[in-house]
Amino acid sequence: MPSTIDHVAYLSVTIGPRGSTTDAEREAAEYAVRVFRELGLEPHVEPFVSATSAWRPFAIATGGMLLMFPVFFLGGRWIAALGLFLLILCTALELTFTPNPLRWLVPKGRSQNVYAILPPTGPVRRRVILCGHLDTHRTPWAFSSLRALAIYRTLVTLGLPGAVGIGALFLIGAITGNSNWGLPALLPGLLLMAVFAMAIQADLTPYTHGANDNATGAGMVLALAERLRREPLQHTEVWALCTGCEEVGAYGASAFVRQHVDLGRPIFIVLDTLGGPGSGPCYLAQETMLLPFRSDPELLAMADQIARRHSELGAYRWPNFRGAYTDAAPAIRAGWRPIAFVNLRPDGVLPHWHQPSDVYENVDHEVVARTEAFVWALLQAIDEG
Ligand SMILES: [Zn+2]
Repeated sequence: MPSTIDHVAYLSVTIGPRGSTTDAEREAAEYAVRVFRELGLEPHVEPFVSATSAWRPFAIATGGMLLMFPVFFLGGRWIAALGLFLLILCTALELTFTPNPLRWLVPKGRSQNVYAILPPTGPVRRRVILCGHLDTHRTPWAFSSLRALAIYRTLVTLGLPGAVGIGALFLIGAITGNSNWGLPALLPGLLLMAVFAMAIQADLTPYTHGANDNATGAGMVLALAERLRREPLQHTEVWALCTGCEEVGAYGASAFVRQHVDLGRPIFIVLDTLGGPGSGPCYLAQETMLLPFRSDPELLAMADQIARRHSELGAYRWPNFRGAYTDAAPAIRAGWRPIAFVNLRPDGVLPHWHQPSDVYENVDHEVVARTEAFVWALLQAIDEG
């Protein structure tokens, strides 16, 4: 049976770039269906509608904010102030994966989640969902180098407070009837212009082959399904899940959580970007786009214990994955019990992240093997309760 690395080769080389909602993403889902069938499992395909771009909502929001400047200076001071605060609200909702009017405006496409259920040998006492996304991101300038990434993160961090500052100045201008209050707002306006330019540029770039992000994670879900078929757990039912559209705002995981509210509070193990040279195994204690999303404390304690017991695997906990998210975010919001594996290097770098170099040749097989061994040990520990 194919290993994780074989799946990585198929997804990233045979299929290649798998942009969210594209035909190639669907082809990857069909591949997962075939793998499950060959294992004698029943594949479930759940279609959903998703945005086609991660960047478009922010291009619309910052573009709209910039448009409020001429409105303000042409005398529509109240309209400009109100418009700005509405756009800030929408941006905050978008950053917390909450439906908002920006999502009505972005182009949509069709995508799908694929899963299969692996029953335990004994009665079911708990449920674990293993989740890896099939889609790949674009290759924006913002991710092109460590320096670009630092600039992008700074701009994004300052963007929202900058917009609030502009809104406050517009509001004072509206109350006092004095347009001069708009002049100092031009400075944070430059910040928004930079974010707007980056968001537009991102959507003009090609998709990555996504060998590391995330053929490694999706491939590991498929390989673990095969191993669980051979060596089932005792009391833990495992759902092997390959999601679509993680890269554009975790739409696939959101759709899955919505479809399966009846599951109660399952354990949700996210496998994302697990083959960077010199990295991992690394599990996140928290991820933060706007609000902090925390991993389940019991699972973290379990992972810490395994990291100590199996020091040969070289695993470590990462305190906070900033300015980024995984498929765990919607699961955390729903009150599920997630833990996300993202193999950040000890210096905090995610190798080849959203870069043209994220190809099969740059996947470190040994890192993938150690991470898989760690996840397997975690599954055993969960099964033992
Ligand atoms: Zn990813």
